[in-house]
Amino acid sequence: MIEELEKIKKSALKELNSVKNLDDLEKWRVNFLGRKSFLANFPKQFKNLSPEEKVRIGSFYNQIKTELETLYQNKKEELSQKIEVLFDFDHPGSKFSFPSLPLIQTNLKRIIDIFRDLGFYVIDSNYLVSEYENFDSLNMPPYHPARDMWDTIWLKKPNKYLLRTHTSAFQVPFLLKFKPPVRGIVPGKVFRFEATDARHDFEFYQIEGISVSENSNFSHLRFIFKEFFKRYFEKNLEIRFRPSYFPFTEPSVEVDLSCLLCQGKGCLVCKFSGWLEVAGAGMIHPFVLKQAKIDPNKFQGYAFGTGLERLIMLKYEINDIRLLHSADLRTNEI
Ligand SMILES: [Zn+2]
Repeated sequence: MIEELEKIKKSALKELNSVKNLDDLEKWRVNFLGRKSFLANFPKQFKNLSPEEKVRIGSFYNQIKTELETLYQNKKEELSQKIEVLFDFDHPGSKFSFPSLPLIQTNLKRIIDIFRDLGFYVIDSNYLVSEYENFDSLNMPPYHPARDMWDTIWLKKPNKYLLRTHTSAFQVPFLLKFKPPVRGIVPGKVFRFEATDARHDFEFYQIEGISVSENSNFSHLRFIFKEFFKRYFEKNLEIRFRPSYFPFTEPSVEVDLSCLLCQGKGCLVCKFSGWLEVAGAGMIHPFVLKQAKIDPNKFQGYAFGTGLERLIMLKYEINDIRLLHSADLRTNEI
């Protein structure tokens, strides 16, 4: 019986040496110390022994059992500590690539920086505006057909409030607050109740600019545009003004940029015209200046608006606006 015990001890020690994790250790425990193990059932044989043998073999049995239990506890502690090392928070982690801020945010910041350098205030403004701010103050009374140009999202309460359809809604509040001479931009989201497709989304960013002084004029506007696009696209690009119509500017122009992709030679993106439409602009209508309590005989100014997503799509050659608003992180890995 002593030999049997020694044999069991020997094989238990041998197997314990090859135990490398807690799962294996548990198997080892069940095998050598568990309820059905040889050691657990060994005392059943004591009844056939003489009292002297019972003492001798019993104490040897207890010694081996205690020894294996101690070894088990030690091994368990050792393996548990190894697991803790896996969660060592001071341990340098493995590198993984994570996209930077979304393209919208990084580009918006870049654009704000450029306009700041060009001497423009940057104003944050409300998404929720009154009918007066969005329409009436901009020479669009209730009967004006230009109101039909946008699909407006109206609020039921408070009545006559809406999610702004354009950042121009800030023009009059801005001019009421900051007296001329003044230059400012308001970047921010605008909302239209439109079906979405590759070119349209129901919310998007605009950047509105305004400059009012005694002599702000089209040549200033042209310089600002030329400088802005040069810095933003990091290319020397041609711009051109085309006559257009907006109720709140007179005269009004569409601003085209020589095509970034074909350098004006003509391609699919510019529909072979060599030009890309990038902004709307004009001299601020005297009606708007009057709304801001500015004398149109003394002061004049220009205003412009451009779409942030359009600029980003051109810069990074992205062909679907919805990618910019989606949670797909691959869009930011450009
Ligand atoms: Zn082109």
